[in-house]
Amino acid sequence: MAFSTKSSLVSFPDARHCVEEYAGTLPPTDPQLENVLDALGLALAEDLRADRDFPPFSRSTRDGYAVRAADLRSLPVKLKCVGTARAGGSEAENVASISVGECAEIMTGASVPKGTDAVVMVEYTEADGQLVAISRSAKSGENIVAAGAEAKAGDVMVAKGTRVRHVEVGIAAAIGRPEVAVHSRPRVAVLATGDELVDINLAPGPCEIRNSNSYSLAAQVQESGGEAMILPVARDDAAEIALLARNGLQADLLLLSGGVSMGKFDLVEEVLDSLGAEFFFTGVAIQPGKPLVFGHVAIDGKTTPFFGLPGNPVSTMVTFELFVKPVLDALGGAKPEPLPYVQAVLKAPFTTKTGLTRFLPGKFGGAAEAPNVEWVRWQGSGDLMAAARSNCYIVVPPDRDRLVAGDSVTILVI
Ligand code: AMP
Ligand code: MG
Repeated sequence: MAFSTKSSLVSFPDARHCVEEYAGTLPPTDPQLENVLDALGLALAEDLRADRDFPPFSRSTRDGYAVRAADLRSLPVKLKCVGTARAGGSEAENVASISVGECAEIMTGASVPKGTDAVVMVEYTEADGQLVAISRSAKSGENIVAAGAEAKAGDVMVAKGTRVRHVEVGIAAAIGRPEVAVHSRPRVAVLATGDELVDINLAPGPCEIRNSNSYSLAAQVQESGGEAMILPVARDDAAEIALLARNGLQADLLLLSGGVSMGKFDLVEEVLDSLGAEFFFTGVAIQPGKPLVFGHVAIDGKTTPFFGLPGNPVSTMVTFELFVKPVLDALGGAKPEPLPYVQAVLKAPFTTKTGLTRFLPGKFGGAAEAPNVEWVRWQGSGDLMAAARSNCYIVVPPDRDRLVAGDSVTILVI
């Protein structure tokens, strides 16, 4: 298969490419009708089409006077106001039409009367009884959105595969769709491994820590339109990991955390191997996240992709965003999205080492005219607190080790 890479440690672009190619082969979950607000974050399984022209009538975008632009050739001019067009008023209720030398008072959102082709803002007019003095000329079409200019009845307003954001909720409402067809949430099993882990409702011993990864991962899954199923923590014991992993492989995707490094008790890879896994890569030249493992297992007539994510909490988070997301998008029927790279000016210098693509916690900010980014000092990839102080990752290519203030750097705002 094209996405299959044989070498175990792959470059960041190769790993990303491999995941994207693999994601392209995955069948999406079944569509279902959802209430439009429950569809938020899920991918549309249908095109949303305009049920009528948008706007359905030529609409004024200003409060003012609807005029014939030709009447404003020499200024100032006085026009006779023959009525008022209000939003929601029908042609019969408003002003049916105007003639040369006439105008109609009009409100934002009202249908423009026949015979008019521009709207002059109220700020440029002065009414004196029925006469309106106009001090500005107008181009034909000014302050009017013509019927059908945004979409014609039957046009696709939002394409299938788009994730429903608040804009799409608004469009669904505008076209009279209280329910829309979306792909159901892919089920993602989350399995943390490690002898040192205790669950959040238990008191950890002196050398134990709480299992935070299962929860941060479940949150990332949920944010990405999936449904997380948190499995009990597996101890660093091959039989226990195997039992829970088999269970997790019944989901659409299995995410394991921890146990993928070079330590004596890092057993995840060997356990997956014993379950018959095919590995696409078993390491990526990045930091954090180098020991990341990606593959799939065919078991009980079902093939399930899995990621073995490194256990350090920030590594787990970064590798989810960089690699798990495309798979979850594909399973959820969402169009593939490129990573959201942006350029920003570095505020202060920092050094790192060459050899790996780095995704370092950064704080993006600054004024609108000068956005900038700052490296957030951290204690390494276990430092959740530094991650909480950051709002982006600074992407440092593998050949850079010295970054100076004023450098234009690439960041990922995710
Ligand atoms: P590992 O990848 O298993 O070598 O773990 C790397 C580091 O991440 C160790 O310090 C672990 O204690 C920590 N870690 C592993 N799993 C979790 C987890 N589920 N929650 C919080 N920290 C973890
Ligand atoms: Mg471990």
